[in-house]
Amino acid sequence: MSGLPPHWRPAQDELKNKTILITGATEGIGRAVALACARLGAEVLLTGRNEAALESVYDTILNEGGRTPGLIPFDLRVTQHEPYDELAETLLAEGLAIDGLVHNAGVLGERRALSQTSPESWQEVLQVNITATFLLTRALMPLLERASLASIVLTSSGVGRRGKAFWGAYAVSKFATEGYMQVLADELGGTSSIRVNSLNPGAVNTRMRRAAYPGEPPDSNPLPEALTDNWIYLLSDASALIHGKALSAQG
Ligand code: NDP
Repeated sequence: MSGLPPHWRPAQDELKNKTILITGATEGIGRAVALACARLGAEVLLTGRNEAALESVYDTILNEGGRTPGLIPFDLRVTQHEPYDELAETLLAEGLAIDGLVHNAGVLGERRALSQTSPESWQEVLQVNITATFLLTRALMPLLERASLASIVLTSSGVGRRGKAFWGAYAVSKFATEGYMQVLADELGGTSSIRVNSLNPGAVNTRMRRAAYPGEPPDSNPLPEALTDNWIYLLSDASALIHGKALSAQG
């Protein structure tokens, strides 16, 4: 199901007054979504591991006249809950509310049979792609509750909706993402104004896609910049009634 209504385009100030935290904002889809949010008036909180790449996104936003972003170096391989809780406490102390939370960071892991997957790779993929999502959302819940109509966007995948050989821990982590979305949506419905949906980007020309399909001409897939309206729509109040849905950015 495509979430984006046909012909929908964001207004110039679609995300004015919104604060949006994006994981994996250093490159690929996360970087493109962060820049698009900033161009539409949002204050973006950029998280990622690579500090130089984060600073480059920060500089681009300032050079384009956007609101000063927050810069949050954070490694999602961290398994303990305390650093996530401390991050949330810092943001709470700054008086922030979070209107949008884009769980975008992800790792591919090993493209091989489950029986040949190393336990180390399994654990890293599950940690970054789903356990960190749980830890970060859990910690940020008070900030999401502070916003009037917060939106959580989880990043899924085609192999998180239909399992395929040799997609290993990655596919399992994306199935878990869909399950997490459904459980959280059911919990929040009726008791909270926070909404949560999953979005499958489809094939996008990024480092991850090129690693997964080394034989594929990279330009056979769209660049992330061509698809950002899908995320913008889910973050904007225009999608206020969309909750608990598994959506696709392409087709
Ligand atoms: P990229 O590999 O281009 O970017 C991945 C991002 O995740 C980077 O910003 C990276 O940050 C971040 N990241 C990875 N590991 C960690 C970590 N341990 N801690 C913090 N951040 C981390 O991937 P895409 O842009 O292609 O993918 C974005 C999302 O879209 C992923 O969830 C992916 O599964 C999903 N997706 C992508 C598709 C595609 O065709 N591209 C198709 C379907 C789903 P850093 O560089 O700082 O480590």
